[in-house]
Amino acid sequence: MTVGVDVGGTSVRAGVVDADGTILDTARTPTPRSDGALEAALARVVGELAERYPVGAVGLALAGFITPDRRGVRFAPHLSWRDAPVADRIADLVGLPVVVEHDANAAALAERHFGAAAGAATVVFIAIGTGIGSALLLDGQVYRGAFGVAPELGHLPVVPEGRPCPCGKNGCWERYCSGTALAATAVELLARNGRRSPVLRRLVRSDPGLVTGQRVAAAAREGDTVACEAMDELARWLGTGLALVADVFDPELVVIGGGVSESAPLFLDEAREHYARMVTGAGRRPLFRIRTAQLGDSAAVVGAARLAREALTE
Ligand SMILES: [Zn+2]
Repeated sequence: MTVGVDVGGTSVRAGVVDADGTILDTARTPTPRSDGALEAALARVVGELAERYPVGAVGLALAGFITPDRRGVRFAPHLSWRDAPVADRIADLVGLPVVVEHDANAAALAERHFGAAAGAATVVFIAIGTGIGSALLLDGQVYRGAFGVAPELGHLPVVPEGRPCPCGKNGCWERYCSGTALAATAVELLARNGRRSPVLRRLVRSDPGLVTGQRVAAAAREGDTVACEAMDELARWLGTGLALVADVFDPELVVIGGGVSESAPLFLDEAREHYARMVTGAGRRPLFRIRTAQLGDSAAVVGAARLAREALTE
């Protein structure tokens, strides 16, 4: 058995995973703010699980730039590590081999082995949550690029001089296609069409700060006009991005994951139709399949554990 750990900005979630991708046991802890405390916390949750199960290796999944040898973290926006030899530090603490992987890559691999992308060779994985996380599988293998940072689809500029992005640029795709974007769009629409939005108005009690992607999705399910318009806009931006994905990668399958994918019935058909209209050579080329992810928010844990297993047999 191996342990997969999802090292998030607010919590660390670890799981013991068997060869079939089944999580047998879990442990979690809040994410500390300093390198030393974070590494000690990771060692603690791994140690807790290793006491109960025979564990052979550990995989860590996190949002950030990982070195191509999957041993170091260059930069992680929500964690303290900067150019840190994370795998060696944790291996010293727990006495087990450790690999590090981008969380979207880990989730994509989990879907490839145990979920929505089973059997597919060329796959683009798009996790739509607070932002967009993305991964590319070629011949079933993760493509990491020359420097370990590919792909960053969420920061493709789609609107010149568009909404500002925390990455420092403007108009990035994830500013228009994410849970955050859904809220931003709803707030813009409310300012214009407030009277036609009984559900959202009630939900937010006229404080725009209370509008979240989840609340907009809930309002759209109740048929709220503004929420439905915001959802349609997200669908169109998803379709626009999928057309770009087709032009660059020509994959056979796109898997949509992340928290927003739970609302897929509200936007996926519209996104698919928009993609089919927007793609270069529309009507004269095959279209890739689009599926929603199957493993939910445990995908990164399962994928990291799978990578740890592969590292053991390499
Ligand atoms: Zn950006």
